[in-house]
Amino acid sequence: MSSVETIHVDGEWRGAASGAQREVLDPADAKTLAVVSEGGADDTDAAVTAARRAFDTGSWPHTPVAERAALLRRVADLLVRDREEIALTESRDTGKTLAEGRIDVDCVADAFRYFADLVVAEGAGRVVDAGSATVHSVVVHEPVGVCALITPWNYPLLQASWKIAPALAAGNTFVIKPSEVTPLSTVLLVKLLAEAGLPAGVANLVTGAGDPVGARLSEHPGVDLVSFTGGLTSGVKVAQAAAPTVKKVALELGGKNPNVVFADACATDEDFDTAVDQALNAAFIHSGQVCSAGSRLIVEESVRERFVAELARRAEKIKLGRGTEEGVECGPLVSAQQLDKTEAYVASALAEGAVLRCGGSQPEPNEVRPAAGYFYAPTVLDGCHREMKVVREETFGPILTVETFRTEDEAVALANDTEYGLAGAVWTKDAGRARRVAGRLRHGTVWINDFHPYLPQAEWGGFGKSGTGRELGPTGLAEYREAKHVYQNLAPEPVRWFAG
Ligand code: NAD
Repeated sequence: MSSVETIHVDGEWRGAASGAQREVLDPADAKTLAVVSEGGADDTDAAVTAARRAFDTGSWPHTPVAERAALLRRVADLLVRDREEIALTESRDTGKTLAEGRIDVDCVADAFRYFADLVVAEGAGRVVDAGSATVHSVVVHEPVGVCALITPWNYPLLQASWKIAPALAAGNTFVIKPSEVTPLSTVLLVKLLAEAGLPAGVANLVTGAGDPVGARLSEHPGVDLVSFTGGLTSGVKVAQAAAPTVKKVALELGGKNPNVVFADACATDEDFDTAVDQALNAAFIHSGQVCSAGSRLIVEESVRERFVAELARRAEKIKLGRGTEEGVECGPLVSAQQLDKTEAYVASALAEGAVLRCGGSQPEPNEVRPAAGYFYAPTVLDGCHREMKVVREETFGPILTVETFRTEDEAVALANDTEYGLAGAVWTKDAGRARRVAGRLRHGTVWINDFHPYLPQAEWGGFGKSGTGRELGPTGLAEYREAKHVYQNLAPEPVRWFAG
């Protein structure tokens, strides 16, 4: 495969039908990292046709569950074998540190193993008691069909695996469209699927832009399900494009995630250090380009000054640089567009009265931080309130806003005052309060005295405009299945409803 043949259709690697190509940039220096095929509507149609044929006439949907699970486990083993190469690719493409890239690959392998185990454990379906000895009634799981999988640039391979692993486990065929900003690791993964023995046509890949490739997949009559992870604006377009063909739609969209810190969580110096450290991690890991980033610190008024001062002191020390450099703690933003967006959010916050406690600009270049890279200093904005744009919208950059509360009710009201509802955390030593607040938060994941962990066996997804549907856990497999009721009369007799 040459570097520009990144479209995979029916088991073959090819370039775009139009011959178009795209340069993928290294966000650390804005230089060309790779050249990929720029697919269009024709390539997308060819991929859907291949996936359709593999589903309608191929073996994969009927392959015994144990064999499908075995293939998924082989993929996990291949990911472990190629861990360094894939982690390096992900680090260079997204800008994240190599250490984060390695963690991503491990999590991707875990997802493949998890869905392999789950699909075997869940069995073929369940027998239903029809209330008659002469009726045998079962509900069986069947694959949905051809799945369109559309993924974002922040966790390219991880988001792909949360879709590919359950889709394959359930017996579907698919066309994946990675973000045009970070397509490289998905190309590697699709190669591994073929190496693991997946029949041609089951896994197809089209690299290219959201419109036309993602848009065509969403509206395509040959697609039965579209699973999309990305921003709210694109998600709405996907849902609209999918509606006329009544295909299943799962949307994993953005978040504006509150991190609620009660004063009692800072009672001792050790507690204080933990809460600050986790707030720092919540907001700034991967430069805040995380759907569940804890970008809204909601801290009890009595501890605010000490908390924010320490947070800003530590945020200023975060080592920014190229993700592959030793000692670097945070990479660049993924693109010039993301950098511009971050600058605009900070400017609007300051214009609306926020107080800059640290950051607020691009850092000085140095030997690990080329001048052309999309670096931005971790930024803490104090004195924020819910009317500010920076508090309401998902910034997806290294920006932490600070709001304060005095009562538990006020904290909950603030934390729920968002159109999103992806994730949030509550920090407190009071077990009753922890459970009360967790119960009242309208978010798909709530952490108590922690931030960011997820488990493959626990559902992930959002309330409100953070999306529809769930990934991971049993629901994450159910998304890729149809339930079919098969009712068998063992002793059929005439009904005699009609007398004649
Ligand atoms: P994006 O919406 O710009 O792009 C996501 C994907 O959609 C890309 O592959 C893009 O090419 C494609 N796309 C764009 N327009 C399209 C259209 N009209 N039709 C079909 N596809 C289209 O998002 P992004 O900037 O790549 O990613 C960041 C967003 O993803 C953030 O909002 C983040 O919160 C969200 N995200 C959510 C989760 C989650 O689990 N909920 C996880 C990761 C990222």
